[in-house]
Amino acid sequence: MDLIIRAGRDDHRVIAELSAPATTGLRLARAVPFTAIVADAPVAAARPELRETAESAALPFLVDPMTFLLADVQPPAHAWARLPFAGAEALRPADLAHGDVQDELVERVIMFQREQGATLLIPPYVYMGKRDDGWLPVQLSLLRRTARYLERENVDLPVAAIFAASLRQFGPQAQWREGLDAFIARSQELNTRFVGLSLSWSEQGKDSYDTLAMLLTVTRHAAGRAPVIAWRQGLYGAALTAAGAQGYETGPGHSERGMYPTLMSDRRPRPPRPDDDGPNGFGVANVYLGPLGRSLRRADARVLLEDMPMRARLLCQDDACCPDGAGSMVTDWRQHATRARASQLADLARMPQSSWRLNQIARDAERAALIARDASEVLHRGGRDVTVPHASFEHLAAVADAVRAEAGSDVA
Ligand SMILES: [Zn+2]
Repeated sequence: MDLIIRAGRDDHRVIAELSAPATTGLRLARAVPFTAIVADAPVAAARPELRETAESAALPFLVDPMTFLLADVQPPAHAWARLPFAGAEALRPADLAHGDVQDELVERVIMFQREQGATLLIPPYVYMGKRDDGWLPVQLSLLRRTARYLERENVDLPVAAIFAASLRQFGPQAQWREGLDAFIARSQELNTRFVGLSLSWSEQGKDSYDTLAMLLTVTRHAAGRAPVIAWRQGLYGAALTAAGAQGYETGPGHSERGMYPTLMSDRRPRPPRPDDDGPNGFGVANVYLGPLGRSLRRADARVLLEDMPMRARLLCQDDACCPDGAGSMVTDWRQHATRARASQLADLARMPQSSWRLNQIARDAERAALIARDASEVLHRGGRDVTVPHASFEHLAAVADAVRAEAGSDVA
């Protein structure tokens, strides 16, 4: 099972440290807790150390071109807007309709990734927010033109094809054929290692039964047609892996959700806000809470870890990961987040059947719902204006059980 870590601008040392067992060749007790490294295109350019780490650890390295940003305005001085394939102006589908324009984009995007040392290439991809907004035909065409380009240039590197789309628009079963299925079929014209299924919806983390049912069902469907990685899916990565994905991609304790409309609008020209996280976790500190499968801001996590009964429920149980208990979780928050996610995936991988995995996800989610409820109380008592939504965990438990029941009836 794959855990792909999205390294931010500030993460190169942490990634090097976590990769040490592979780069130094020392036979340490612990393995590298991820199976590939991805960096946003500007981060890859600013931090060549990431590529070097991936190379010495013999891990695939991906450079995310973030070409969904082409559809929005960018500050011209922004690092992404200055990349050779990017720009500050917002493009419409009509601007990218012409084959020559697409070919040029493909060439620049792929050349850039190769210059940055990518060993797994990402064809240009856009965010499809509406079925009829005109981006789907552009996306399908970009895949085909990437296939032709790679063939013409004799590039035999494998490809990760990213399907970035609105869950509400492309998730319902009636929409699969013309959207996701067409994309997967087109991706098979390339040497595709996996399809990065990157579905986006608002209010991630406060999810209804219907939202989660759609997410797990569409992921299971896609995984039956191609190897799938749940892309930008820190919140439900383990659940989607249990549902059939081969793994998931997320940041190390940050960048755990991926709402494309926000990723795009956040980068529009505007004066900085005082509470900005900064892209890629630059300047953020969070703490990953394993039983909840997500990170909270450090100040909030501290309040929880200082409450003795709550600490007992949230403490990292792995002495090799967090030898100083809560202190390690707070200080080495990115290492802890990555290792804890890896060990959860390893536990799932040890289960021989998908139904066992889904059962595990459901039981974990039931426990998480109880913890979330109590955690909100502790936070409010501690004067923090934060609630950990517990209903989404209850919904996840019910959905995982329903998917498991349906999978069981498929077999019978
Ligand atoms: Zn830990």
